[in-house]
Amino acid sequence: MEKKRKFRIAYLILTIAAVLAITSCASSAPAESPAVPEAPSSQAGASNDTSNDSLSQDASAPDVAVPDTKPDSGDAQGTALASADSEFTIYFIDVGQADSALVVCDGHAMLIDGGNAEDSSLIYAFLQAHEIDHLDYLVATHAHEDHIGGLPGALNYAAIDTAFSPVRTADGKPFASLVRYLNIQGVSLTVPHPGDVYPLGEASFKIIGPIHASDEKNNTSIVLRIVYGNTSFLFTGDAERPEEQDILNAGYELNATVLKVGHHGSDTSTTYPFLREIMPEYAVISAGQDNSYGHPADNLLSRLRDADVKVFRTDLQGTIICTSDGNTVSLSAERNPGAIPYPSDSREGNNNGNNDNAATLNDSSYYIGNLNSKKFHLPSCNTLPAEKNRILFDARETAIADGYVPCKNCNP
Ligand SMILES: [Zn+2]
Ligand SMILES: [Zn+2]
Repeated sequence: MEKKRKFRIAYLILTIAAVLAITSCASSAPAESPAVPEAPSSQAGASNDTSNDSLSQDASAPDVAVPDTKPDSGDAQGTALASADSEFTIYFIDVGQADSALVVCDGHAMLIDGGNAEDSSLIYAFLQAHEIDHLDYLVATHAHEDHIGGLPGALNYAAIDTAFSPVRTADGKPFASLVRYLNIQGVSLTVPHPGDVYPLGEASFKIIGPIHASDEKNNTSIVLRIVYGNTSFLFTGDAERPEEQDILNAGYELNATVLKVGHHGSDTSTTYPFLREIMPEYAVISAGQDNSYGHPADNLLSRLRDADVKVFRTDLQGTIICTSDGNTVSLSAERNPGAIPYPSDSREGNNNGNNDNAATLNDSSYYIGNLNSKKFHLPSCNTLPAEKNRILFDARETAIADGYVPCKNCNP
């Protein structure tokens, strides 16, 4: 409960900080006015009905994603389902140190990434086993092999309507292979625009990234948010901090019931400000057992735990299946349903050590300075300055370098 409370406080503070940042930075994205309030779809069980459908499809995507920083203009978010027999399932397919998810809704299907080249036959067999011989959408989030390498397996089995990629050309054999197999079907790559919304049965999804082109392929990842009734699902590819920040700046709705954690749980993704906007109930991490990258990172797992997110991991639990009835989601794992997704040397354990202060410090991912007194505090301190006098520091050293001294009360 203590952590949850801290996280809420952090949420509040960072919201204020974000508002201040936006209002003081007029040269960034055009002023955002969330014209239609979106339903808090991360709250499973809520039954808000706030907006109307206005699905738009863009048939003329250019070669490079053109930044369209206009935020949400009132598409379907958090509406009740129209039919009682509607069905929605996501399979987070265990492809080891790679990514692949199959989204199926009312007989329509979307495959987001397809694992490594060696997973081609696995993807083929998975689609076959689930009788998915037609994919409305194939999403190649970015041109890295662990995402697009196995897509030829899907193209060998299923007919594709639309294939999304952040780029039309990229070097490397996996990309060439993807294009070749698409050509066989007469399908060319579509580069989606941020803000585009596409239907998938009674669900719909919106493209919210990439906002800008990037030399770093991970930060070209197609990021999309699926809405199904009052539940929502965020897929972020391998997007890292810079792309997350672009998306935050663009002002897109991010809250999600389920987050497919970015970049296999790397510490450079799912940063605190991004996670704060998503506030997921569940997170799914796709990573390989004992992978050489150390994914998922302990720091990332700690962030998720501090946010009270229930975590599922393909490296520990195999393929993860997620279903939604439009109000509530449920997740199940192929194996190890009770696996403990967090690092064993958790901070809670450390709190029993003989250095209570250090344990408390570890708990704080930021510090609050008082602009007047030049003292800085732990977020949990009971002598925090008034909101308008606050400045945030991401590290103790930063505060001290700025001439702030530790509060004697909380001893940060
Ligand atoms: Zn990857
Ligand atoms: Zn990547």
